[in-house]
Amino acid sequence: MQKGLGSAVLPVYRRSDITIARGEGVYLFSPEGKRYLDFAAGIAVNALGHSHPHLVAALKNQADQLWHCSNMYHVTGLNRMAERLVAATFADKVFFCNSGGEAVECGLKMLRKYHDANGNPDRYRVITMQGGFHGRTLACISAGGNDIARKGYEPLMDGFDPVEFNNLVAVEAAIGPQTAAILVEPIQGEGGVNVATHEFLQGLRSLADRYGLLLFMDEVQCGMGRTGALFAHEQAGVKPDIVSSAKGIGNGFPLAACLATDAAASGMTPGSHGSTYGSNPLAMAVGNAVLDVMLAPEFFEHVSQMGAYLKTGLEAVVRRFPKALQEVRGTGLMLGLKTHRSHYELVDRLRSGGLLTAPAENNVIRIVPPLIIGPAHVDEALEILNTAVEGWL
Ligand SMILES: *Cc1c(COP(=O)(O)O)cnc(C)c1O
Repeated sequence: MQKGLGSAVLPVYRRSDITIARGEGVYLFSPEGKRYLDFAAGIAVNALGHSHPHLVAALKNQADQLWHCSNMYHVTGLNRMAERLVAATFADKVFFCNSGGEAVECGLKMLRKYHDANGNPDRYRVITMQGGFHGRTLACISAGGNDIARKGYEPLMDGFDPVEFNNLVAVEAAIGPQTAAILVEPIQGEGGVNVATHEFLQGLRSLADRYGLLLFMDEVQCGMGRTGALFAHEQAGVKPDIVSSAKGIGNGFPLAACLATDAAASGMTPGSHGSTYGSNPLAMAVGNAVLDVMLAPEFFEHVSQMGAYLKTGLEAVVRRFPKALQEVRGTGLMLGLKTHRSHYELVDRLRSGGLLTAPAENNVIRIVPPLIIGPAHVDEALEILNTAVEGWL
């Protein structure tokens, strides 16, 4: 057994050797005071940056009043947050939980219940996308994830039929009498910032309608403002039946949600699902504070503008270093920089230079900064990137 820093921690993460002690806005600081420009944002979590004053105040205020009382009672923050999400989205009902994986689980259970309640208990299979990622529970790794995430956990859960992403013909060919739903990330995050075309998402809606399937979008990573809309599917003009949300929704406080239409949720009755910590008052206070900021006028417009500015800048770097860098992909502030060879070394160089990014699969470096960045942060990031790539060649 290895001794040293972190030796008592289950070694399921490849941690870098830096320690983070404090965060402020779009910067993180080591205990020694080294400053990092945080364009990883806790893997697309800190949408409003670190120590956002409005969020800190909401959490502190709630901490003085009530931490937990169980779901046996109403708490004011719960109804308010659910009503606001319903007013802002396709959804009629919201279930709150604590992590993305749980939000996906809720959706997977809901889609089975829907068909069961509608007299089709044999419809339980879900068409999933190759390259998809949906979390770490047994059902979630059965639905997606790469080989390392799945290896050694067999037998995985039955009932998932993966097809090629962005291939409508493949989706339709996979539909059978037992198919219950289609599960898709509008932008695959872990898989390498693969963007679903609007035509693909629209086509999935048509197929779901034609075959009586539910359309389940996993927006844990691409939702909550990241693409310049509250949810990415809005930009394709498509209404899903179920959406899982997490990451940005709590800005780092453990909070997630499963949103659904009344029809999709029709099988969910008292006792059919639950979570002890779900809709906990602390989480609801933070979630409502996140919505205060995100639903304010021009917030999403700012995300789109910064996204376009950052993407243009990244494209210029790719043009400057065509031997090292292949392309920029993504929407809004969910961007990916694809490298020609293994990207981990470049991620390390960026970190040494003071810029944090998040590696994804297929040599894609995810660039998912807080949505509150300004042009000067983009300029700073591009300068660090230029220097790092120059040294990497
Ligand atoms: C991160 C992620 C999850 C899992 O979320 P956890 O909070 O780690 O359980 C699920 N789906 C997508 C698309 C994600 O990016």
